[in-house]
This record gives sequence, C-alpha cells and structure tokens, in this order.
Amino acid sequence: MSHFPRRTFLAASGGLAALPLLADHAPGSDGPVADDRPAPRALPPEGRFPIKAVSSANGMAATKRAVELMRKGVDPLQAVVQGVAIVEADPDDTSVGYGGLPNELGIVELDAAVMHGPLHRAGAVGALRGIRHPAQVALRVLQTTDHVLLVGEGARQFARVQGFKEENLLTEKARKIWLHWKQNLSDQDDWLAPPADAEVGRFFQQHTRSFQVAGRTVRKFVRPTGTIHCSGMNAQGDICCTTTTSGLAFKIPGRVGDSPIIGAGLYVDNEVGSCGSTGRGEANLQNLASFLAVELMRGGMTPKDAGIATCRRIAQHTKRKDLLDDQGRPIFDLKFYLLDKQGRHAGVSLWGPAKFAVSDERGTRLEECEFLYERMKNEK
Ligand code: ASP
Repeated sequence: MSHFPRRTFLAASGGLAALPLLADHAPGSDGPVADDRPAPRALPPEGRFPIKAVSSANGMAATKRAVELMRKGVDPLQAVVQGVAIVEADPDDTSVGYGGLPNELGIVELDAAVMHGPLHRAGAVGALRGIRHPAQVALRVLQTTDHVLLVGEGARQFARVQGFKEENLLTEKARKIWLHWKQNLSDQDDWLAPPADAEVGRFFQQHTRSFQVAGRTVRKFVRPTGTIHCSGMNAQGDICCTTTTSGLAFKIPGRVGDSPIIGAGLYVDNEVGSCGSTGRGEANLQNLASFLAVELMRGGMTPKDAGIATCRRIAQHTKRKDLLDDQGRPIFDLKFYLLDKQGRHAGVSLWGPAKFAVSDERGTRLEECEFLYERMKNEK
C-alpha cells in the first residue's frame, strides 16, 4: 500500500501554521458518491452559493471572522476553526476553552471536533487538558493522522508533539464558581458554607430554574452547559464545521460529551448541509442528533423543519422520569444550528426563546431560534 496520501497530510509545526494544508484540496474533487442518495441540490435559487456562517449565540465574533476569511478564499474549515479560536481564548466564556468551567476535581477538560464537507473527513479530541484551542488540535488529528478521535492523555501528548503550548486553563472566575459548587455539594462532608461572593452568587442565580414536577414548582440549579458550534459555507458551496467546549460543568473526570462525537455534536454532508449542537450532550449522544438532522434535510426538509423534527425525536426518546416535567417534556435543553446546501439556515431549540448567530452578506446578527416548547414567563 502506498504511503503517499498519508504523507501529503503530515504537518510540520504547531499552532495554526499547518492549516493551509487543507487549502490544497480542490473543492468537489472527490467526485459524486455512488449510492442511492438523491442527486445533489446543485445551486440555491439565486443561482449562487452565499458565503455564510452560523453558530451558537456566543459566536458572533466567530461567524464574523469565518465569513471574512472565506471571502478571502480561505478553506471553510480553517475559517470556522479560526473563528471559534476567538471564543476558545475568551476568559469570560465559561463554556469553551480558556476560562471554561472545570470537572469535579477542578481541572478543565475540553472536547472538540472538526468536519470537512468536501473531503468528508473528521478529527476530534475528548477530555483534553491544558490546551487552549482544542478545535485546532482536532484539525491536526484530521490533517496528520489516520484516526478520527484522540482522548485524554493521548490527546494531550499528541497536542504537545504538534507544538501546542500547555497551560493552566482554570481562570480565577471559574475556580471560584467551581469551589462554591463543591463547598455546597453536601452537608455530610467536611466543607463549610462558602463566603458570599457577588459574582459567584449571580452565576448560580442565572443557572437556577423553576420546573413543575409532581404538581410542585421546584427550583433547581441546572449545571451550566455552553459550547460553540460554527458551520460555514463558501462561495463554492463547500460546507465545514466545528464544535468546541469545556462540556458539562463539574462533570466526572473523563466524561466526554456529544461535541467531539461525529454525528452527535456536529455532522456535515457536503451535498446536503450541516448541523451542530449545544446543550445536554447525553441526550444528543443517545440520538446522534446532528446526523439525524442532516439526513432529514437530505429527505427534503428545510433546516427549520429538520431541527424541529430532531428536537421532537429527542423528546420522544427521553424516558427517565427525573428528566421530564409534569407534561412529559424534557427539563433540559438542546439547541441545533443548521445550514443547508441552498444556503438556508436555522437555529432550533427544545426550549425557547433562544438566539443563534449568523454572518452573511446582510452582516452579523443574532436571530431567533425556532423551538419546540416555550418557556413559561416565571421559568428562567
Ligand atoms: N453539549 C456539551 C456537552 O454535553 C455541553 C454544552 O453544549 O453546553 O458536553
């Protein structure tokens, strides 16, 4: 067997230096796929592909950057990875990269994945410690290895030899929030109640919700989720995406969520469209929801309808009583960000109202998500 194709993807050094490797790929050169799928939708009605990026609501800077780069001809995967790098480096976003909330031991563990539509190739890392830009490490997995997913210590070793800098990702803000959670966990351990702290107090207030369970209104701290997903389409209609996260706050060490799992946290089929998600990863993992949404679009659904149908499927598959309210609705949230080959997009959530970010020829903005259930006024 020839080793040539593999060598062509070997990267030389760390950081973003190796990203131009993907630019060598001529869009569409993989040719048509020989199977029974419907013919690719060639062009949107306007007769051209709009350069566009969609992301979770925390990603306005990311979609803006991704579109700017795609306008300059940068490969869409490089564009979205560079876009989300802004959020990964933001200490104030406690759901992604540097400043993300840690696991139950106080250690930040990151998950990320990338997927390249034209090549139909993916790379991912799970439970990665000490590296600020996991999406870039995931891209290196795609570019330089025959694997798709590296986890834990192996992922860290890989990042190190690729030249990524190791650092402590736990910011003072995230450390204080984690310690407050830990000190309040139980009245049967040796921790005393933590001292009052206005910023920490606000954080816990923001993440406390009311639910109707067993005929009563229950106030419950909902462990923060977050994440950024970003999908981008260039002028050739090629679609790529990435999802990057610190995952569920205070998780059991080693827990990997949906974000780095291809088909769950993200999926793209270059002939159809892409989907990515944020929210309760366990619900997504049990439904491979991004793959489902793309397949529904392949069947002819719009991004909005595919997202709603996907939310409905997740609700139908949620059986655990402690995850359902009195009306049988999941008490958690999941959101999907969808982009189809015709350049249509949607953000869809189980619970609304909610927003998502879009950049295209109309500029960068937040739009309203479609949703399955509307939150009551007194439910935060
Ligand atoms: N989906 C992510 C996870 O479960 C978390 C999130 O989106 O907030 O790890």
